Amino acid sequence: MQRDGINRSIWQEVAAPKLSAPRDQEHVEVIIVGAGITGLTAALKLKEAGKSCVVMEANTIGFGTTGGTSAHINTVLDTPYTDIIEQHGLEGARAVLASTRKAISIIKENKDRYKIDCDFMSCLGFMYAENDEEKKELAEIKDALEQIGIPCSEVDEIPVPASFIYGIEFDEQGRFHPTKYLAGLANAYNSLGGQIREGTIVQQVKEENDVLFVKTADDVVFTSDFVLYATHTPPGIQLMNFRLAPYRSYIQVWELVRPIDFPEALVYDMQEPFHYFRTVEHGDKSYLLVGGQDHKTAHHDNEKKNFRELEAHIRSLYTVNKKIYEWSSQYYESQDSLPFIGYYPGKKHHRELLSTGYGGNGMIFGTLGGSMMADLVLHGKTDFQDIYSPSRVGPLSAMRDLLVENYDVAKHFVKDRLFLEEIDELAELSRGEGKILNYQGKRIGLFKDEKGELFAIDPVCRHAACIVKWNNTERSWDCPCHGARYAPDGSLLNGPSVAPLKVWQLER
Ligand SMILES: Cc1cc2nc3c(=O)[nH]c(=O)nc-3n(C[C@H](O)[C@H](O)[C@H](O)COP(=O)(O)OP(=O)(O)OC[C@H]3O[C@@H](n4cnc5c(N)ncnc54)[C@H](O)[C@@H]3O)c2cc1C
Repeated sequence: MQRDGINRSIWQEVAAPKLSAPRDQEHVEVIIVGAGITGLTAALKLKEAGKSCVVMEANTIGFGTTGGTSAHINTVLDTPYTDIIEQHGLEGARAVLASTRKAISIIKENKDRYKIDCDFMSCLGFMYAENDEEKKELAEIKDALEQIGIPCSEVDEIPVPASFIYGIEFDEQGRFHPTKYLAGLANAYNSLGGQIREGTIVQQVKEENDVLFVKTADDVVFTSDFVLYATHTPPGIQLMNFRLAPYRSYIQVWELVRPIDFPEALVYDMQEPFHYFRTVEHGDKSYLLVGGQDHKTAHHDNEKKNFRELEAHIRSLYTVNKKIYEWSSQYYESQDSLPFIGYYPGKKHHRELLSTGYGGNGMIFGTLGGSMMADLVLHGKTDFQDIYSPSRVGPLSAMRDLLVENYDVAKHFVKDRLFLEEIDELAELSRGEGKILNYQGKRIGLFKDEKGELFAIDPVCRHAACIVKWNNTERSWDCPCHGARYAPDGSLLNGPSVAPLKVWQLER
């Protein structure tokens, strides 16, 4: 499978599903945009109910973050339930827990019904604190978990060789192989007659007399009754741009010297940002997967440094043999810590739906979001509709965070335009490196590939005109404002942009 970064993830070693070719352009009941876990969960459920559907995927199945995840399956979320209770109340937090349990049951049902061999395993979860401050925070999290109905206990041992002063254990977690699961969903959907159009960027959707006109980047127009945005972040300039912030997280997979060290559980420390641990099976061997180093997209001078720091942390805990994979990927935090799932806000009709803002819990929320969007199409209602409503007004504390995130965006509009680095000598660019340069009075983004060939782009993001930044580890141009990403040659990697960067023609 392909992915939206140059570093290969362990999940890409799965053959892309062989699907029947999509039929000619025809009116369908539902167009699902995006073939990650959200889109394919929705598509399968709709097809099971007999709806005519097309999934439109800009690239290939699993190209987005589902191909770059760590695939922990959680009821205990990255956002602590202390925060969720504070922002959404006890009943809100209990509803969130119930929804995570429902998502896990959907994954299990799909896996069993369609016999998807995806290395699914139920397991325990552990969190551990290494100093007094972390201990206090973790003790509060434990109280919150118990309050909402997640049994947990203090432990003397944890399945990571770290020295800790306080640890907790809880049940009901799991892990799986995300692209094997995705391929299974795609095959099941396809065998029921569902169509998938890969290489199709949806650029614009317009409603007229209860019909949606869906225009693609190739200027083809399809029609449908409903459109579901399963694009991780909805495309285009829209309200959600102000409610989501893009983040990058880093993962390494290591061969360990002592098999006894593999954690048969999901484990998290309490550092800021925290590290996450799991075991992954690959071929006939087990490997350690560790992730962390999260930061706001394009807010880091040197992304490669994150891999070095992650490696140093892993080496401080484990006797390692060999690193077999490292990659990074992008997720979107919502302003009040819960995803947005439901009808597209601000539209007069109820024909466009979205699911986004999962933070680091998109296996769960993507599954839930796909299923909820399908329910809304099929029945006009769904469980958990209110708590995840995209039209909800966030609590005050969330509004404060929202202003901070968007102040940050405003800063990027202004600062990057006025204080760009000026470098005259193109020769300063090494092979494999990208940089924004002022050259002959023009601002250009330059990338020199391994053969020495130069690619020049206009670094103004095609989404909201922020200035993109070079990501030196995934080799992409990343937008610090809303997370649109582009390949070295300017072609589109991920939304919310729906167009490639403009390119400069270089005179030779
Ligand atoms: C490093 C990392 C680790 C993570 N670990 C975990 C974890 O352990 N557990 C967990 O639950 N979650 C985790 N997450 C989050 C989770 O992986 C994501 O939330 C989830 O994969 C998102 O799935 P999705 O289907 O919504 O989006 P994606 O998988 O990104 O799929 C969206 C698809 O839409 C397509 N698309 C976008 N725009 C258009 C358009 N205009 N037209 C057509 N197609 C379009 C894209 O090409 C893409 O293929 C992690 C995230 C990161 C970054």
